[in-house]
Amino acid sequence: VPELAVASWTRFADWMATVSDLRGAAALLRWDRETAMPPAGAEGRAHQLATLAALHHRELVRPEVDDLIAELEGAELDAHQAAMVREAERDRERATRLPEELVRALSEACSRSVDVWHEARPRNDFAAFAAVLEPLVELKREEAAALDGDGEPYDALLDEFEPGARAADLEPVFAELRLRLAPLVAAAAERPAFELRRRRWPASGQLALARELASAVGFDGRAGLIAESAHPFTNGNHRGDVRFTTRMDEGEPIGNITAVLHEAGHALYEQGLPEAYERTTLYDAPSLGAHESQSRLWENHVGRSPAFWRWVAPAMRRHFPEAMDGLEPADLHRAATLVRPSPIRVAADEVTYNLHIVLRFEIEVALMRGDLAVRDLPGAWDEGLERLLGLRPPSDADGVMQDIHWADGLIGYFPTYTLGNLYAAQLAEAFEERHGDLEAHVERGEFAPLLDFLRERVHRHGRRLGTPELMRRATGRELGVDAFVAHLTAAYG
Ligand code: ZN
Repeated sequence: VPELAVASWTRFADWMATVSDLRGAAALLRWDRETAMPPAGAEGRAHQLATLAALHHRELVRPEVDDLIAELEGAELDAHQAAMVREAERDRERATRLPEELVRALSEACSRSVDVWHEARPRNDFAAFAAVLEPLVELKREEAAALDGDGEPYDALLDEFEPGARAADLEPVFAELRLRLAPLVAAAAERPAFELRRRRWPASGQLALARELASAVGFDGRAGLIAESAHPFTNGNHRGDVRFTTRMDEGEPIGNITAVLHEAGHALYEQGLPEAYERTTLYDAPSLGAHESQSRLWENHVGRSPAFWRWVAPAMRRHFPEAMDGLEPADLHRAATLVRPSPIRVAADEVTYNLHIVLRFEIEVALMRGDLAVRDLPGAWDEGLERLLGLRPPSDADGVMQDIHWADGLIGYFPTYTLGNLYAAQLAEAFEERHGDLEAHVERGEFAPLLDFLRERVHRHGRRLGTPELMRRATGRELGVDAFVAHLTAAYG
């Protein structure tokens, strides 16, 4: 490498580190907002986050970096360095199209609207929420127009979470999924409902079990921590600090366990990103769909199998000797795999879950095209839920206002959950081709082979490969619904 390029590389690496530090600092402020911040801190925190978003944006679009990138493109870089430059260009191109005032306005509008959502939802007050959501949706449409004035507005937003994905490509996938899920939903509805009898599952035991479970699947507690929040999430703040939350209901134990497996799946991915990529553009997953493939694999393919409940039952007996009295692993498994259409996405079973995503996808596309107004959201929601799941929501709070995503400006995000489900099923098939029956490993509590497989085929690549290419190499398959439907048919058919 010529000397000029060495000096340029050093400056480029410094720039990547700065961008990455600003992003990590904002992530930590958001973690604190959701887990520890007192309510009176909301306004001050919104200013801090908006300032960091503006600084991050300013750094991202710094004009001198164009010259650096031009120099480096003429230099001889290794494949990793070339990928860092390529991803830097992608990030810069996106950011350059967005004026800093819009970035700041969006950050502030999101903070305000999340705040109002937290208050308006328990009061079932859609009008109050609509008053902040309307200007936010306008800003999102401005954002989409700034990113790509000619294309489908939705695609410009989707591209942030799932680079390269387009609404027109997702539509046939969703259509096929709807068609093939219908008989499974109908068959499951015939089976009798089953719920664990209400008993007391103390939160202290649930948190202890969460730690034990996370550690058993490979979560490194010296490089992360677990807390509680109403809506579980994972934050990879920076290398050595990966955190996730779980939710605990003292009336039942299963929500905590499935949340821990889900979030641990995200956290294992973050902890498995290669050290060589630290503070570079590659220290990340290539998309949220790729990220979600990990959480869904641990939650659904590991955590909803009969073998998992046989394996975890002794630990549950230790933590909850009274509540577990007379309960068999088969009871826990039945409760964890009950299929019942629910108006609530986060309470949905594996079979009906993706129909909730179809509903949100259809509504978001219409909102962004301007075919649907914010004030008409409740009607569109109720009609769609009825059409897709045969239900009416009991209220706006448990209907159109149930998710935090829109309040936080996350439009174009939901489809990544379904992509995650599809990729997870394909990864599970690929694992079994190489290592045999996944359930046999789970039965013995042997999670290392699955984690090693994911480290090798997914985690260690960071963001070096785009998601379709990453998954094609990892699974030997093109994206499709076959593996997912086969998994559901085996588990629920
Ligand atoms: Zn997730």
